[in-house]
Amino acid sequence: MVRLLLEIKAELENVTDLAPASAGTFEYFFQVKCNSCHEVHPKFVGVNREDEREVSGGKGNMANFVWRCGTCKRESSAKFDDKLPTIPYTADANGQFAPFLTLECRGLEFVAFDPTRGAWKCVGAESGTVFPEVDLSEGEWVDYDEKAAVPVGISSIESNWRRA
Ligand SMILES: [Zn+2]
Repeated sequence: MVRLLLEIKAELENVTDLAPASAGTFEYFFQVKCNSCHEVHPKFVGVNREDEREVSGGKGNMANFVWRCGTCKRESSAKFDDKLPTIPYTADANGQFAPFLTLECRGLEFVAFDPTRGAWKCVGAESGTVFPEVDLSEGEWVDYDEKAAVPVGISSIESNWRRA
């Protein structure tokens, strides 16, 4: 088993606490690589914290993602650590990588994360205004914070996987 940490970075303009809009059902889209044959699956796969499946031969062990490699047919799996929630990306980290989430992986590794899919949220840095529907599908998001009378935005999102 290997613990993988996903770090993200973004340029935040007058906002903080960028996070999935729904902690449990947010679908994270990851690109997965088989550790047996090193094949990278071409399509991104959806993984969320609530869905669980039994691991084959795992005596009732559950995982959030169970995958059979199309090339070597080996099964592998990954699961979130319930004790480690996804960490909102704050203005303090602006423009620098910060830890986002951790997964325990067996037989696979994740090699990419697509942040443009799924609903996000963030908060006005000065005003506390909640922006509950942040759409990053264009790779960036812009809006206006009326309470603080400033433009708000998120851009230049990048991600990086490494051993936790
Ligand atoms: Zn394989």
